[in-house]
Amino acid sequence: MGITVIVGVLLLVGLCMGSFSGAMVWRLRARQLIDDKAAGEKVEAGELKRLKPLTEQGMATDRSRCLHCGHILNWYDLLPLASWMSTGGKCRYCHEKIGVFEPLIEIGTALFFISSFVFWPEPLYTATQITSFVLWLIAGVMLAILFAYDARWFLLPNRVVFPLIALSAVMAIIHVVTSTDVASALFSVLMAVVILSGVYFLLWIISKGRWIGFGDVKLGLALALMLADWRLAFIALFAANVVGCLIVIPGMLAGKITRKTHVPFGPLLICGCVIAGLFGDRILGWYFSMFL
Ligand SMILES: [Zn+2]
Repeated sequence: MGITVIVGVLLLVGLCMGSFSGAMVWRLRARQLIDDKAAGEKVEAGELKRLKPLTEQGMATDRSRCLHCGHILNWYDLLPLASWMSTGGKCRYCHEKIGVFEPLIEIGTALFFISSFVFWPEPLYTATQITSFVLWLIAGVMLAILFAYDARWFLLPNRVVFPLIALSAVMAIIHVVTSTDVASALFSVLMAVVILSGVYFLLWIISKGRWIGFGDVKLGLALALMLADWRLAFIALFAANVVGCLIVIPGMLAGKITRKTHVPFGPLLICGCVIAGLFGDRILGWYFSMFL
């Protein structure tokens, strides 16, 4: 198969998976509101009313609806990116603006799929190598959901985090059992967990949950297992901080971010993990050739 064909397929699959992620984000939000309300917490009545229909049918039969008018959408309204562009970002039925949330998730997921293939650090010949790559892509879809959800509502839903931890554990096991030195590979995975999850766990305990949420601790565990290498875990943490500074410092200078602004760690950690997973080996190679 030619490279162009593979990239084209990954673009289309990435857009569709992004569309799926966007739909999942709203369903998760609806379920969260229902759970919160059941737990006696205050929820916005308007938001709950608008999103509730999303949870009333089973996943398989559920057709997506317009979040404003509730119109059940046709197949041509559900084409990733294309339907959004054809209507200028408005609902075809009530002409309400849909917003850039959905297309951004779709583009982001497609870019993740393509760059994962283009920059994948391992060869893709054996069944194990291809399996690891596909599991990485599936994990990426879950990360897209978590990224969008946390960026919008400062929360990492367990309904996604727990399956991601299970998937990451499988990735870590494959990594360990196929490595030449099983003992040191296992040690490396454990150290990665200490670096990515342990640090957040400590911060969570020290701050009694004020600086970071426990969701970040669980996400850190998943990402550590995904990367399965303590050096990559370190790069992920470092890259997350760099990306954070690149966003926070200009925001502070522009006066849009103050000390009180809530900055979600999830999206930063996810960025750090993707950078480490795709470029970590190259960054390490470059670092060692410079300083050793
Ligand atoms: Zn509508």
